[in-house]
Amino acid sequence: MQLYKDQTLKVTNSLTGKKEVFNPVNEGHIGMYVCGPTVYSNVHLGNCRTFMSFDMIFRYFKHLGYKVRYVRNITDAGHLVDDAEEGEDKIAKKARLEQIEPMEVVQRYTVDFHNILEQFNFLPPSIEPTATGHIIEQLEIIKEILKKGFAYEVNGSVYFDVKKFNESFDYGKLSGRKLEDMIANTRELTAQSDKKSPQDFALWKKAEPQHIMRWPSPWGDGFPGWHLECTAMSTKYLGETFDIHGGGMDLKFPHHECEIAQAEASNGNSPVNYWLHANMLTMNGKKMAKSTGNNILPGEIFSGNNAILSKPFIPSVVRFFMMQAHYTSILDLSNDALLASEKGFNRLIDALDNMSGLETGVNTDFNVADWKQKCYDAMNDDFNTPILIANLFEAVKHINLIKEGKENITLSDKELLQQTMNSFVFDVLGLENKNDGHQDSDKLQGVVELLIQLRNDARGNKDFATSDKIRDQLLAMGIQLKDGKEGTTFSIS
Ligand SMILES: [Zn+2]
Repeated sequence: MQLYKDQTLKVTNSLTGKKEVFNPVNEGHIGMYVCGPTVYSNVHLGNCRTFMSFDMIFRYFKHLGYKVRYVRNITDAGHLVDDAEEGEDKIAKKARLEQIEPMEVVQRYTVDFHNILEQFNFLPPSIEPTATGHIIEQLEIIKEILKKGFAYEVNGSVYFDVKKFNESFDYGKLSGRKLEDMIANTRELTAQSDKKSPQDFALWKKAEPQHIMRWPSPWGDGFPGWHLECTAMSTKYLGETFDIHGGGMDLKFPHHECEIAQAEASNGNSPVNYWLHANMLTMNGKKMAKSTGNNILPGEIFSGNNAILSKPFIPSVVRFFMMQAHYTSILDLSNDALLASEKGFNRLIDALDNMSGLETGVNTDFNVADWKQKCYDAMNDDFNTPILIANLFEAVKHINLIKEGKENITLSDKELLQQTMNSFVFDVLGLENKNDGHQDSDKLQGVVELLIQLRNDARGNKDFATSDKIRDQLLAMGIQLKDGKEGTTFSIS
């Protein structure tokens, strides 16, 4: 269903700083690129928030009936430890410290990234390209930029000439910076630097002999600059001008600014119509950082294994917590905030479960069609999930009143309510019904208890062959029976 034809969606475009009506390049189709992770460590929760914001946006586009090509890359080379373009490659450094191959680092943390995102119920992107898989495309763009005169080669490295570019284009338009101010505020280049100006950035870096991640190029062995990969992959899969480019706020400058410059320098086109930036996650009011210990991994929340938590929280509760804030606002994580989200999430899911059993009558006490449009209005206003959730709780209030017999609903309104609630809760917000999983584990518990009873009966009849068979076969499945004074208990490994 092409719902988008009836809805006017507005998005906050970082390029203009304004909320704008969204119109894709090709009607009914959307091209969206989001900068993915650099896979050299476990994905942290702040990154999960960014990717979750774009998962929700991807889901809403799909819900509206758009055909979406969503590209989210994996950075497996070129991202240096020091963003000022000196220093080691983040992945190569990790490989050196752990004495493993860089591709082992990449594999380990790509698997971790996918595993965590799956637990959070993310939809996979349409394409997940890697930087190392697109070296040829990156070399072609460098050649093009050199040909246009916006880059220069020194000692086997190629740098983007920001001053030259700024004479014909506008460097700084995304982050609202002026090149003159940047020049006034930067230190002089060190004597060893090959760059003409501190603002210039590497398109290709010469690989020193000890640098293990290296590829041949017309300028000698080296590796691509980090900013370049996103230009290469977004252009290849989405074209020279596409609809949406997303990422965390912290990527606006220099990463996204440089992406714009590279694209404009190579083909003259502004690459992206709408730039969307997701805000950061803090913890207990402070910036999350590994160095200060104010940090938490998603797995620690699911297991409860972190000192700031009083208990474990299921991924959907964490997801619900994240969706309660607008993606452009700072969100603060704490044990209390998660406890409150858990309460709200349970209330929402319980109301959904109660809906099918509601009795219907001849009239409805609240206007379901108006309420439904209010849900869309919230999402159409720059994906305002907190307002959407407030509307969902408005419906929860009515569902509970109908259940108590204090309000009425007609059959057709009940069906509309049910369908709309399910669409927004599960398809758009991406939450999962906690009770589904619980029902399965309740059943498993019942089955194991039945087997324990049969085993006790067998032992009572001195049929030890049967009782041992039950015990051994359960153990083979990872279910261990323990006989104690209080009877038999079990654990599942
Ligand atoms: Zn990027």
